Amino acid sequence: MHILHVKIVAILECQCNAPILLLLEYQSSSVSLSPSPKQCPFILSCKVNFSRSIRNPKLGPNPRSHVTTTASKTTKQSQPMSDTARFVRTVLFLPPGVDPDEVTEDMILPGSNIVVGPYAGHSQIKEAEFVKSSGRAKDCPKDDRPEFGIVGRSNVGKSSLINALVRKKEIALTSKKPGKTQLINHFLVNKSWYIVDLPGYGFAKAPDAARMDWFSFTKGYFQNRETLVAVLLLIDASVPPQKIDLDCANWLGRNNIPMTFVFTKCDKMKVAKGRRPDENIRSFQELIRENYPQHPPWIMTSSVTGLGRDELLLHMSQLRNYWDQ
Ligand code: GDP
Repeated sequence: MHILHVKIVAILECQCNAPILLLLEYQSSSVSLSPSPKQCPFILSCKVNFSRSIRNPKLGPNPRSHVTTTASKTTKQSQPMSDTARFVRTVLFLPPGVDPDEVTEDMILPGSNIVVGPYAGHSQIKEAEFVKSSGRAKDCPKDDRPEFGIVGRSNVGKSSLINALVRKKEIALTSKKPGKTQLINHFLVNKSWYIVDLPGYGFAKAPDAARMDWFSFTKGYFQNRETLVAVLLLIDASVPPQKIDLDCANWLGRNNIPMTFVFTKCDKMKVAKGRRPDENIRSFQELIRENYPQHPPWIMTSSVTGLGRDELLLHMSQLRNYWDQ
């Protein structure tokens, strides 16, 4: 029974004062997840703050104080919250239009904490084209189309993920060309929205002088780009949490930049040494908790197996469609 399992989880969480991260072994339980149980071996819990996961221009340029979740609208403070309700409200990412009391497990995207809501729509990419490289945020396209900024450490798998999303190998090569790696590269998707390839950070082998000041370069983009729906922060799940990723996540969190954690290389379940992706993901979220008392949505992906591709696109569609309202 799905609901029974959820309740068990909620009880575990209620026993702690602080929010905790839980590892659920779905495969070892009697729970059957749909649509694809094998793709979702576990769920890590995390607090969700919708206002940090999407920006809506109609509600003001600053997302932090204006967006109200359905959850917060419908919570009756005077009534004690059930364990299941608490689980739904504190662990899952609830998009707009979702009644927390009506969330069922088949609404949760496999390998993520993301609930699919009524704004999820057409998500597949039919066409994508490189549009422009910009050296500064103010040089970026000015046509008001919504966009997703993609960032991550050098070698995290950003190009591979963009290629996998658009199913077009050569497209992300654009941003690998000499001279384009430190630029903001816009790719127009279905003639209606942008994927934005932002410069990678942490070039381990580059001499100090050649390293760019990533934060000062991208800060203007993150803080002022009105059409930014959300940042996808890519984290390599095949390695333990890296300081530079934690710094970036914490910086985005402190600055209330709407974002989604996209864990890459989740196919690497058999690592020679170290820990598995699920353990690395849990550690990462524990380490950033201080700056994210309420965590954004997260999802597991692999550009090798295609894990999470369709789910990520669906998630992006609901953020985008809500933004478009
Ligand atoms: P970028 O520097 O962030 O653009 O990273 P790339 O996309 O060039 O990938 C860096 C390396 O990681 C390459 O050797 C890729 O083949 C590898 N890689 C990227 N994504 C995945 C993935 O999902 N799984 C595995 N196993 N390797 C990946």
